[in-house]
Amino acid sequence: MFKFKDVREAEKAEAVVSIIINVALWVIRLIAGILLNSIALITDAWHGLSDALTSLGVLIFSKIASKPPDKEHPFGHGRAADLGSFLIGIMLFIIGFYFLYDGIQGLMTEREIVYSYLGLSLIVTVITIFIKIFNYLYAQKLGKDYNSNLCKTDALHHKLDALVTAVVVVGLSMYYFFNIPKMDSILTIFVSSLIIYEGGETVYGIANILMDKNFEDISEEIKSILKEFKDIEKISDIRVRSIGSYYYVELNISLKKDMKLSRAHEISDKVEDELKKRIPQILEVHIHEEPL
Ligand SMILES: [Zn+2]
Ligand SMILES: [Zn+2]
Repeated sequence: MFKFKDVREAEKAEAVVSIIINVALWVIRLIAGILLNSIALITDAWHGLSDALTSLGVLIFSKIASKPPDKEHPFGHGRAADLGSFLIGIMLFIIGFYFLYDGIQGLMTEREIVYSYLGLSLIVTVITIFIKIFNYLYAQKLGKDYNSNLCKTDALHHKLDALVTAVVVVGLSMYYFFNIPKMDSILTIFVSSLIIYEGGETVYGIANILMDKNFEDISEEIKSILKEFKDIEKISDIRVRSIGSYYYVELNISLKKDMKLSRAHEISDKVEDELKKRIPQILEVHIHEEPL
């Protein structure tokens, strides 16, 4: 459940697990809502089904990204994963603002408390929250382990859903047991602000990837690995970009000018192999040799 061949397989697993969970939660909440005659649960059920949409996006964009290079796309299709993450990030940003608006509106208007949440339907809602938290942790782990932005942005969505649902339960309980009103609105404002902040951060990070921002930490790592090669006199212009979770590296090495071409080529091959071995996320290395 946690080990996959590559990042694309991990993304596929995350998407499939999320879709199954969201469809199952839709069925459970819809049936419970109808049986318990709870409008709130039925509304939640339909919102929950729409949550499967971003996971469907993960599935589609990851599938496109997994295609091998072809004539039209000699660099492969990995950018589809970055583009998909960017779009899902923007969507989360918008959903965050929607919840923020909802919270502010709830604070300003007299709203009828949805009592149908209490009792048996509360149990269904609490179970939903725990399943959503599992969904979040799973997506987050795969995102971290496989450096997948698609998994990370989907994880953020699961987190938002879990928190928003939890906030309603906490807010209503506080009103019911301690007669503290409007806590659900106040907490919704807090949670949506958090997601807007995290969503903004995520979108900014992915925008940087799409802009081919250099990866300084990887550059430094490459530099220290290259220092082990005694034949290399100088290393310069290390450039690292990320395409669909993989690194593409370009760099210059200076070699003695009377060195034989076959020897220079041998060194370049060794450098390439060593870099790929030590930093497995590196997919391609282009080396330019300078005579010194
Ligand atoms: Zn949602
Ligand atoms: Zn193509």
